[in-house]
Amino acid sequence: MKSLRSLIRQSVLILMAGLLLVFSGLIYAGGDALLRRFVDGRLLGLAETLAKIVEQHPNIIESSGEDRALAAEVSRSEKEQHGLQEVTHSLMVFSPDGRVVWKGPEAVAQHPVPDDTVFERVRHGNTVFETVESADGTPIRHLFLPIPRQGQVRYVLHAEASMLLYRETLKALLILLTAGSGTILLVAWIGSGWLAKKVLTPIEVLSTSAETMSEADLGKRLTLDSPYQEFRRLTQAFNSVMDRFQRSGESQRSFCDIAAHEMKTPLTILQGNLEVALLKARTSEEYREALINNLEQVGRLIALTRSLLTLAKFTSGKPPVHLVPLALEPMIQDMVEELTLLADDRRITLSFESQSVPPVLGDAQWLKQALINLLDNALHYTPSGGAVTVRLQAVGEGVAVAVEDTGHGIEPEHLPHLFERFYRTDWARAKDAGGTGLGLPIVKEIAEAHGGTISVTSQVDKGSVFTLRLPVSTHLTIPA
Ligand code: ADP
Repeated sequence: MKSLRSLIRQSVLILMAGLLLVFSGLIYAGGDALLRRFVDGRLLGLAETLAKIVEQHPNIIESSGEDRALAAEVSRSEKEQHGLQEVTHSLMVFSPDGRVVWKGPEAVAQHPVPDDTVFERVRHGNTVFETVESADGTPIRHLFLPIPRQGQVRYVLHAEASMLLYRETLKALLILLTAGSGTILLVAWIGSGWLAKKVLTPIEVLSTSAETMSEADLGKRLTLDSPYQEFRRLTQAFNSVMDRFQRSGESQRSFCDIAAHEMKTPLTILQGNLEVALLKARTSEEYREALINNLEQVGRLIALTRSLLTLAKFTSGKPPVHLVPLALEPMIQDMVEELTLLADDRRITLSFESQSVPPVLGDAQWLKQALINLLDNALHYTPSGGAVTVRLQAVGEGVAVAVEDTGHGIEPEHLPHLFERFYRTDWARAKDAGGTGLGLPIVKEIAEAHGGTISVTSQVDKGSVFTLRLPVSTHLTIPA
């Protein structure tokens, strides 16, 4: 597994090495060019001065024995050129065809004769610079300068300078750059280690705390005393994940507690009934009564188990809905017709009012289940002589199915909790023990799986309206 620490150190080192290489290369190339220009400039300055003298006094070259006169002029010019002697080795004058016509006092005895190409270029009026290594390996800079007379190249002035100083200076620069770069890399290596430690220590502290946390520590939170906002954010993020885990763990636990409790009641009744029935010999009528009572409890257990299984389907991963374009009107019409008998039985008027609405993307089976839960409640909590109305209408960019009743209504304090699992109002509990408190949570899951919502408004003693809103097929965005 890769280590972030070595990644940080390597990255810093590679980056610094790259930068130093480029920087040193530029400095070295710049130094080289500057020194070369300096040497060439001084050489050319001297050569041009001498060329002028020769141009003005050509007899200095042509009359024999006048070397000293030129040498005197040369040394005067050299002094004018501030210490040119340090760099100037020799001066010579050639005829355009390459014959030596004059040698300065410091001219090298076995001077290599310049090749024809050099003279060829000088004859065409070009000033030629060349670097040649001497026998002892010292680089010598040569300058060939044409001296014209009457539009023709009359002489070729040759000046040369040692580049020893230039080479030594470059060598020193190279040593300086290498030593400097090495020191910077060493500092970068040590610095990157310090930086990696600074960055990774809080992460290590967090990892160790997280690793040592057990399920029993879900209430614990990480504390990190870091002045850096990034680590504070990381700690907060971790702690808020822990908050969510804790909440979800607690709600899971309370869900299990309540579910067990809800199951315990019918099971206890069942056990009690059976024990009482077995206490003594009973008539067949008494056994029948006990069995009917037990059957009721079994029915309640089955309803509870079915609801729990339904909820489990929606809460574990992907909701089990298969969405297709669906016309709600005929579906609701059929359901209302099916329930009319039951409503009549309870002497409740059940009606359906419909607008023309666009199709929704829905799963008919689950939408039917949601509407049955709402209608079942409406019929259940509405007294005889009341009315239950289903309204289908287009609302904004969606479709709304409202189930309206003229029942008991719900107190305002219960409204925010109605869609919580196992939540039942005291009045409903008192009225009958048959409900599970899971019908509305199932409606909520189904609505959300369709990208819709469920809401309720209610007035005590007037009735309640439960509204299921679904987006039409073109506007649907299913939650992830
Ligand atoms: P159940 O009806 O099985 O108790 P639900 O989840 O369907 O469970 O409903 C939760 C609670 O909401 C009910 O116990 C009842 O108190 C209240 N409720 C639901 N629908 C209505 C209604 N139409 N009128 C009055 N109260 C209702």
